[in-house]
Amino acid sequence: MATWNRLSLSGPLRCLLYTAGGTLQYVVESTSSAGPTRLSAFAGWFLLALLNSPSKHRFIADQLDRNPWLADSLKSYYEHRCQVCGNDFQPTYGVQYSETHHIQYLSQGGPDISGNMVVLCPNHHRIIHTTHAEFDRESLSYEYPNGLQESLILPTHLSRAPRTDSQRELI
Ligand SMILES: [Zn+2]
Ligand SMILES: [Zn+2]
Repeated sequence: MATWNRLSLSGPLRCLLYTAGGTLQYVVESTSSAGPTRLSAFAGWFLLALLNSPSKHRFIADQLDRNPWLADSLKSYYEHRCQVCGNDFQPTYGVQYSETHHIQYLSQGGPDISGNMVVLCPNHHRIIHTTHAEFDRESLSYEYPNGLQESLILPTHLSRAPRTDSQRELI
């Protein structure tokens, strides 16, 4: 199963990102007057590196679920409620929606396991990335650069998750 994300590029190129077999794949298409031309994966990677800042690239990579089954089961466990604020779209909008976030980013070597993941509403997901909020595993809370601290109101799977040695080093 592939998860596609479209990345807008300026000029006659567009890029499609998808995960397949647990790895991130890139396809860059040229939409010049000659019509769409699919470039090789290597060319896509090279063009992405040229056209996007490393931070933008990393942000997008962190949005992708490497293991869709794990992400989906965690979202289901919390019934798509944000672990920070408890937001639930279902009563108001009639649909369930949530996102998963890796506490230590995959791009920084974070493991793709539930003990390194939280279920968030889109607002919290974005502000945590934007402010580079730090997660404190002892208090199970996010700390923002302005001093604000928000404890998880739905911490269940993290308070139960056994820590790996690599996670201990992060504390
Ligand atoms: Zn939230
Ligand atoms: Zn994230």
